[in-house]
Amino acid sequence: MWVDTHCHLDASEFDADRDAVVKAAAQAGVHGIVLPAVAVSNFGAVRTLAQRHAACVYALGIHPLCTPGAGQADLDRLRAEVQASLVDPRFVGIGEIGLDFFVPGLEADHQTWLYIEQLKIAREFDLPVLLHVRRSQDQVAAQLRRIGVRQGIAHAFNGSEQQAARFVDLGLKLGFGGNLTFERARQIRRLAANLPLDALVLETDAPDIAPSWLTDGQFGEQRNARNSPAEVAGIAVELAALRGIDPAALAQATWANAVAAIPRLARFADTMGPGRAAA
Ligand SMILES: [Zn+2]
Ligand SMILES: [Zn+2]
Repeated sequence: MWVDTHCHLDASEFDADRDAVVKAAAQAGVHGIVLPAVAVSNFGAVRTLAQRHAACVYALGIHPLCTPGAGQADLDRLRAEVQASLVDPRFVGIGEIGLDFFVPGLEADHQTWLYIEQLKIAREFDLPVLLHVRRSQDQVAAQLRRIGVRQGIAHAFNGSEQQAARFVDLGLKLGFGGNLTFERARQIRRLAANLPLDALVLETDAPDIAPSWLTDGQFGEQRNARNSPAEVAGIAVELAALRGIDPAALAQATWANAVAAIPRLARFADTMGPGRAAA
C-alpha cells in the first residue's frame, strides 16, 4: 500500500536484521521500497537486495558525497550497468545523484560534472532521477532543465515554496519523510500541507532522518536513532493529518505520484499499490 521511495537498505546499520526490517515494513503496510545506489561499489548490493525481496526495486547512480575519487571510469561503468539492467524489471532509474553544497570538502566543479554526466545517462535511456538536493536547489533544478530530464524525485525536500514550485514545474515530485513529523520543521510541514497533492511522495531515507517518535521529539537528534522503511506508515498518518485528508486517499495519491515519478513501478501495482489491500 505505502511506498518508501528512498531507502538505503544496504547500509551497514541493517546488517544484523535486514530481512526482519523488510518483513516489519510489509506488516506496517509498506509493500514497496526503492533502493538507490550511492557508488559503483554498492551497485551489486542494491541489485541483489531488490532481487531477493519482492518489495524492493533499485536505482543506480553516484551520490554527491561519493564523488571524491569517482571519475570517468565510474561513469562508464554506470552507463554499462544501466544499459545491461534495462531488461531487469526491478531496475527503475538513476540515483542517488545530485549536488551537496552543505557538507564541506566536496569540490563543486567535480560533483557538478558528475551530476551533469549522470543526467545525460538518464536522458539517453529515458529514466527518472532520484535527486539529493542539499543547499543546491537552484543548481540542481537548473541542470535538470538544461539537460532536459523531466521525471523523478527531489528527495528529502527542504527548500522554499518557490524552489518547490520550480521542481514541480519541471515535472518532478518532492519526497517527504521523517522531518515532517517534527513541530519545529515549520517550513517542511507548511510545504507538505500546502503543495498540490500530486506533487508529493513518501520516503524515509532510512537509516537516516528518523521520525519524531524515534527521537523523543528531539529535532536534529535523528543520527542517534535508526530509521526504517516501516516508519513510512506513521509518517503517512502524520502527513494525512497535516493535509486534513483520509490516509486511504493519501495512499491512492502517493502511489499514483510514485508511478508518475518512477514509471517502472507501474508493473508492481498488484503487489505494492493501494489496490493490494483489496486483494
Ligand atoms: Zn540524499
Ligand atoms: Zn539517500
